[in-house]
Parts: sequence; structure tokens; C-alpha cells
Amino acid sequence: MVCAHWSPGAPPWARGSVAAPDGSGPKAAGAAARVGGIGGVGLARGTGRAASNPGAACCSPAAMDMTEVLPDLHLLRFPFGHVYLWRDADAVTLIDTSVAGSAPAIAEGLRRLGRRPGDVRRVVLTHHHQDHAGSAAEIAAWGEAEVLAHRDDAPVVRGERPGAPPDFSDAPAWERELFENLPSLPPAPPCPVHRALVDGDVLDFAGGAVVVGAPGHTDGSIALHLPGPRVLVTGDAVAGADGRAILGVFNTDRARAIASLRRLAGLDVDVACFGHGEPVVGGAASALRDAAERAA
Ligand SMILES: [Zn+2]
Ligand SMILES: [Zn+2]
Repeated sequence: MVCAHWSPGAPPWARGSVAAPDGSGPKAAGAAARVGGIGGVGLARGTGRAASNPGAACCSPAAMDMTEVLPDLHLLRFPFGHVYLWRDADAVTLIDTSVAGSAPAIAEGLRRLGRRPGDVRRVVLTHHHQDHAGSAAEIAAWGEAEVLAHRDDAPVVRGERPGAPPDFSDAPAWERELFENLPSLPPAPPCPVHRALVDGDVLDFAGGAVVVGAPGHTDGSIALHLPGPRVLVTGDAVAGADGRAILGVFNTDRARAIASLRRLAGLDVDVACFGHGEPVVGGAASALRDAAERAA
């Protein structure tokens, strides 16, 4: 079960947006300052303390803005945890759901695109953290959507067991300090998982979306590779920072996360969409290779 406050065994990182360190080991203060810049809501700058009520900001439709990445792919940008919306002619697929309470804002995004909540046929969760799976139960309750998650994260999404905390033992020092200063977010209500995914599964949207296992951030982290439009949606396996791609932070197994990043960097993609940070549109494969070379 996800907990809004850190405790041993509680799922980790979901509590904030990815820092924007450049991979070369910035000081924690610098990394923390960038959290607010990327996430929109973050730390009270200069104090290192959590913002007063970040959860409330996350849950307001007014806190969401929507931008077109490609004609059929929109980013719903929340203070914590992006949502991606793919439109096919007869169905909508959501990738991640942001924090609990975001469903009204997601519905508003659908309306702006001329679609209805009932048009959502599937919700693909890149991993179990509460800034990604937080509103999945609410969207599943709309009645039409099936929820998909990797089989290794599905029990956490269902609320059957807690997620593992991050392991900072081989991470840069700033990463732990950043984590300890993040504001907490509302827990993710347990959500049914209608289909447990494995590496290599092909999903029926965007002309065939390939599930790419990307463990390390969590055991069941996945990316989605859309070979047709040459898009990669990375979840938190990778993050966007300062126009670049970086290894995601707060990993349960950093070595595994780096191996996953290297695998993702071998894909032929032009667009990369991250769980946190701005997408790279054009030249994404090169940006991912650069990130893989910097990660060590
Ligand atoms: Zn996240
Ligand atoms: Zn995460």
C-alpha cells in the first residue's frame, strides 16, 4: 500500500518530480532547486522543506495543462507525474494517471480533445508509484477501461503488498538528499489490474505498442515503444531534464536501471516521453544514448 509519508517498505519515489541533475553529480541544493522548476510544484526553495499542500495542487484540474506532442499524442502535464493520452480513431489509451484525485482533470483533457471518459479503453501503468498509478482506480471506475501493468508491479497496484523503497547505496549523494526533501503525495487507492504484462507484449493501440521491460526503478517498470510513430514512453526509467534525457532517480536497483536505460537507448525512436520532465521531440535515440553514456 502506498503511503503518503515515508516509512520503511512504503513505495518510494512517487512523492515528487524528478530532479534535473545532469548526471555528473550536482550538489543536492542545486538539484533540489531544479525540482520546483521541472515539477511546477516542489520544494519551498531555500528551505528544503516540503511545499505546504502539494497534494491539493496536484488534484486540481487547474493544475493540469495539456500540450500536443504529436497529432495523436498529448501530454497532460501535472505538478507530479505526467499522463500521456494516445488517440486512435475509435479509442483512447492513457499511459499513467498521475496522483490520486487527477481523474477530473484527465476527463477535462479528454473533453478538450472532443472525447469522453467512456472512450478510454485502456490505462497502461508504467509502474506502481502513486504519481503514476494514483488515479487508476478512479478511471477504472468510469467503467470502460481495462488497467494494464507489469506482472511484477501488479500486486502493488492492487494493494496486495507494498512496493520496495529506493536503494541509495550506489546512487549519488544528492539523490538521497533530494528524496528526503520531497513533499509527500496522496496514496494510490488499490486498483484492479485486468491484464498483467510482460516484456514483448504488443498492445492494440497506436498500430501496435510494444511493452519493453525496464526494471530497476521498480521491479515491474516498463516502457512503451510505438514503432509506427517512433515514440518511446519511458515512465521513470528515464527522465527529461534541461532538454536532455537522464537516468531516472530513486531506483530500487540502480545497476538494473542503468542496464534498462542502455536497452532503451538501442531503440529506433524519434520522440521520447518521460514520467517527469519535458519530452524530447526529434533525435530522441541520440538523447537516450547520451543519457546511457553518462549513467554509471
Ligand atoms: Zn514518477
Ligand atoms: Zn516512479
